[in-house]
Amino acid sequence: MTDRPHLAVLGAGPAGLAATAAAASHGVRVTLLDAATRAGGQFYRQPAAELRARRPQALHHQWRTWERLRDGLRAYVTVGAVRHLTDHHVWCVERRPSGGLTVHALLGPEQEDPVEMRADAVVLATGGYEKVLPFPGWTLPGVVTAGGAQAMLKGTLALSGRTAVVAGTGPLLLPVATGLAAAGVEVPALVESADPKAFVHRTRALAAQPGKVAEGARYAAQLLRHRVRLLARHTVVEAHGTDRVEAVTVAALDADGRVRPGTSRRIPCDTLAVGHGMLPHTDLAETLGCRLDGTDVHVDDEQRTDVPGVWAAGETTGIGGAALSLAEGHIAGRSAAARLHGTEPDPRAWAAAAKSRTRLREFFAALGTVYAPPAHWTEQITDDTVVCRCEEVTGGTVREAVAELGAGDVRTVKLLTRAGMGWCQGRVCGPAVAGLTGCGLTPSRRPFARPVPLGVLARAGEHEDQ
Ligand SMILES: Cc1cc2nc3c(=O)[nH]c(=O)nc-3n(C[C@H](O)[C@H](O)[C@H](O)COP(=O)(O)OP(=O)(O)OC[C@H]3O[C@@H](n4cnc5c(N)ncnc54)[C@H](O)[C@@H]3O)c2cc1C
Repeated sequence: MTDRPHLAVLGAGPAGLAATAAAASHGVRVTLLDAATRAGGQFYRQPAAELRARRPQALHHQWRTWERLRDGLRAYVTVGAVRHLTDHHVWCVERRPSGGLTVHALLGPEQEDPVEMRADAVVLATGGYEKVLPFPGWTLPGVVTAGGAQAMLKGTLALSGRTAVVAGTGPLLLPVATGLAAAGVEVPALVESADPKAFVHRTRALAAQPGKVAEGARYAAQLLRHRVRLLARHTVVEAHGTDRVEAVTVAALDADGRVRPGTSRRIPCDTLAVGHGMLPHTDLAETLGCRLDGTDVHVDDEQRTDVPGVWAAGETTGIGGAALSLAEGHIAGRSAAARLHGTEPDPRAWAAAAKSRTRLREFFAALGTVYAPPAHWTEQITDDTVVCRCEEVTGGTVREAVAELGAGDVRTVKLLTRAGMGWCQGRVCGPAVAGLTGCGLTPSRRPFARPVPLGVLARAGEHEDQ
């Protein structure tokens, strides 16, 4: 078996699982690595085995697809075609001068023990993360990200609170609001800054995806059933509380995306689940020198990056949901398998996945023009609102760096104020700092995808495993 080409797939979400199955079924030895303790990624996040959930499917959509992915992975692992390494936090992928790549990971929940692995090629399938824009009170306990509330429910079967306002923008808010409500949380409002009327101008892209339109209709019916009030063209202005969130003030937006005076209302709650869209994880691709298109890893029709031996699939190449991730993962796995065997792949082999990819990319491009934070969201950041939570840098400090010290980009603001210099390395505050600075969000070129102990760096190269 060891003379077979070796593909490392990084990320066991829909994209990574599809890539693994496609490559393993075409004679490639696959190692699937993921930081989580169970396969599934964000969409198919599974409860910990110790919780013995009796009906985990109650928290999921498209459970049959998950069963097919899960059973396929088990079968490949059983026959030795795939090695599945959980709790492996990949911090860097390196190109070897002699060819091939080295994957560096930290093992276990403490992330201290190093693991290094050689591979002939990699598929980057590390997904995306949520964007949250600051507003007064957003650092109060009880304010969580929308996906975080969902992840807590799916992964630990725990509720983030009893009464949750779900707010921000994006399609993710729908499963979050309906999922929390179905689990017994009172959801007094779903506060969405986008205008649903904007969908009228996107009918062609919507009509091409009747399944997605039906999914949207099901969410609308569930919101009605659970008496979740949809406040469209509204935004959260402030979260209130002393030890934790006790209420939020929301307000309507005018046609320019500004808060309409006199429309504020206060909604009591113990949780605010808030998100303003998602951003792709690109750290590993950036370290490898892969080209980015804006915030997305650039790929060709075979899901190859511009770095030889490196494929990328799923939300790391652009936000587009689980079905698109599955299609891209399948194509990446088929292409990588063919090329690792030294043959030119035949795109007809993945024609169905390519068709689905085209349609879903168009659909999500259309959604991307509808769902957006309010145009003037930075006006809601008061001077004493903390923007960078790691380094406790306020909106006023960032504004001062721009207006009085001449900073015109995120990097200069960071050097002048420390915003983005802390533990998260600007992943959370980056979009807010860019917005306040009036510049675009540029790749930060972080050397590693996560913090690495110095001792591990010093011993890099000593722990290589095939
Ligand atoms: C918090 C959250 C909750 C979400 N909930 C929903 C939902 O309920 N419904 C919905 O329709 N969509 C949801 N989404 C969107 C969802 O992520 C996508 O639709 C889909 O899961 C993308 O699939 P993917 O395979 O590209 O990435 P993901 O499913 O995100 O999988 C990526 C995998 O890579 C792993 N990974 C990342 N970085 C590393 C690293 N450095 N080392 C090792 N492993 C790594 C992660 O642990 C993860 O398992 C959610 C997204 C987020 C961020």
